[in-house]
Amino acid sequence: MLDGNIALKKNIAIQIFANDYYRAIVFKIKVVMSLLKPSRNCHKCKSRFAVNLSNCCEICTLKRTSTDNFGTVDYWQDLAKMLLSQEQKCPYSGISLKLGTNTSLDHKIPKSKGGANDLANVQWVHVWINLMKAAKSEQLFLEELDEFILEIIKFRNIADQIYPSLAV
Ligand SMILES: [Zn+2]
Repeated sequence: MLDGNIALKKNIAIQIFANDYYRAIVFKIKVVMSLLKPSRNCHKCKSRFAVNLSNCCEICTLKRTSTDNFGTVDYWQDLAKMLLSQEQKCPYSGISLKLGTNTSLDHKIPKSKGGANDLANVQWVHVWINLMKAAKSEQLFLEELDEFILEIIKFRNIADQIYPSLAV
C-alpha cells in the first residue's frame, strides 16, 4: 500500500511536522524545561529511569497504553516489542516515534468498523497521524493523505511564488 511515494510523503510529513516553527519552539522549550529539572521521577512508580516529557517512565507509559486499550496491563511488553519491530517509526509518515512524547496506538481496522481490539489489529503511529486517520479505513485515509499532500505542494508552490525569499 505504501508505494514509491513514501520518500516524498516522508519528506513532506517531516516538513509539516518537524519544521513547523511554532511547534518546534514549543518542543525546544519543553526539552529545555525538562533538562532544567534533573532527576525527575516517574510520577507513577517513582523510578528515576527514562522519564519522558509526559513525566512517566517508559514501562509505566506502556502499561498505561495497554490498560487504556485492552483493559489490562498484560500486553505492555508486547507493545514494547511492537515499537521496536517498527524500528520506532510511524508507518504512514516515517517520523521517528518517541514513546510517551509523540506516540499513539492506532487500530488498523477501526473498532467502529468491526476491527478487533487485539494486538494483531494495532500499530504505533505518530499522534497527529492518528488524529487525522480517526475512524477511517486505512485505504480511505491513504487516499485522503495523498490529496492532503497534493494540496500542501500546491500551497507551497503558491507561497514560494509570492514569497520567493522564504522558499526552502
Ligand atoms: Zn514509572
